[in-house]
Amino acid sequence: MGTQTAVVYAEPGRAEVREVPLPSLDVRPAPGVLPRRCDHGVIIRTLATGVCGSDQHTLHGPGAAPGMVLGHELTGIVTEVGRDVERVSVGDVCSVPFNVACGRCANCRSGLTSHCLSVNPARPGGTYGMGEGFGGWCGLQAEFALVPYADFNLYVLPDADQAGERLLDVALLGDVLPTGYHAALNARVRPGSTVYIAGAGPVGLACAAACRLLGAAAVLIGDFNTERLAHARTVGFEPVDLSRGDLADAVAEITGRRHVDAGIDCVGASASGLDGEGTPPAAAFNDVVSVVGPGGAVAVPGVYPGGGAPLGVRLGGIWSKALTVTSGATPARRYQDELARAVLLGGFDAGKIVGATAVPLAQAGDAYARFAAGAGRKFILVP
Ligand SMILES: [Zn+2]
Ligand SMILES: [Zn+2]
Repeated sequence: MGTQTAVVYAEPGRAEVREVPLPSLDVRPAPGVLPRRCDHGVIIRTLATGVCGSDQHTLHGPGAAPGMVLGHELTGIVTEVGRDVERVSVGDVCSVPFNVACGRCANCRSGLTSHCLSVNPARPGGTYGMGEGFGGWCGLQAEFALVPYADFNLYVLPDADQAGERLLDVALLGDVLPTGYHAALNARVRPGSTVYIAGAGPVGLACAAACRLLGAAAVLIGDFNTERLAHARTVGFEPVDLSRGDLADAVAEITGRRHVDAGIDCVGASASGLDGEGTPPAAAFNDVVSVVGPGGAVAVPGVYPGGGAPLGVRLGGIWSKALTVTSGATPARRYQDELARAVLLGGFDAGKIVGATAVPLAQAGDAYARFAAGAGRKFILVP
């Protein structure tokens, strides 16, 4: 069996580039991978594969197995199709949604591909490169990758040359763009809305871009990281430095009111420890709730752990203002067609907004370290 270059989990907090076996439609057991036969799958040669905040959760979480291939964001060319695949052909350029979904179960049929009932023995919903707790699917940060249930999962780009020319935009269709857009829709952003987004990382910026696409009048982004805030300003959003003063004062200065119509938490539990000891995991969420006006909506694409750990959510702030809160992983496939048209036909320059930066796959370790250190960029690995 041949080998290929891939990004693997080496030890807690550290990814490295190694040679691993090439993928096959007959999936063999490997670190973090469950064996299965995938005649409904395809093999894809990677054009671009993103480094994501969720990869950091995997690097620091309990679910990673040493030697496991990481990553869940892929754009590439189909090189082999399984015998049950009918609507995808060798040579097609495709975007892979980060959710693994069967397309056959009740949840997939209702559009909830984020919670597919077939792809993860542990619980509803699966993804690539996060270990057995997420279904045991091999990661996508490699020269070649397996994508199962290809007819259902893949978004085939209409023009391979055009996709190649816009690769740093197209590469965002697998995760951050659908995630940001889903959150903006859930927060009921519409023409004239004022929006506060917690977190100026790639998901926060993609969410801000989606709010602009939906016609928001003012998009404020809060963070402690000055590099990320400076980037948010250069791409036309209102940065709010959370290390300085009161959030409602900053909102009033920019919008003329002490509240916004919509709030979006793109930080999640990683807020814990950002501004000192004793910060509750839900600090960013509580900030968002504090500045959304009565009857408004709050969306939470940021990740919070399951189980019973106390998060410090101030429920009274939600109740007293009759806010609507939505959360959870995004069913990415649902939005890829319309977002691809916005990028390819509508001039939506998502790559520039999130600071998409190409890095050779062989230098992935460096990209991971720079992302973890808070770089104001979205790193896209290219073989
Ligand atoms: Zn991602
Ligand atoms: Zn399903």
